[in-house]
Amino acid sequence: MPIAVCPECEAEIHVDEDVDKGDLLVCEECETSLEVVGLDPIELDRCIDEDYDDDEDDDDY
Ligand SMILES: [Zn+2]
Repeated sequence: MPIAVCPECEAEIHVDEDVDKGDLLVCEECETSLEVVGLDPIELDRCIDEDYDDDEDDDDY
């Protein structure tokens, strides 16, 4: 089973063999959402939810 490294906490993450680019994982150590950005070797990047906005205060003064 391939192993990737969490870019956030450097924990080893076991990845499915048929994982594909764009797949989303969650690091078991730091619970960061990760996206597969490379396959050979497997590379992970932090997945930032750009659409997610939990602080939608009106910033117009
Ligand atoms: Zn991590």
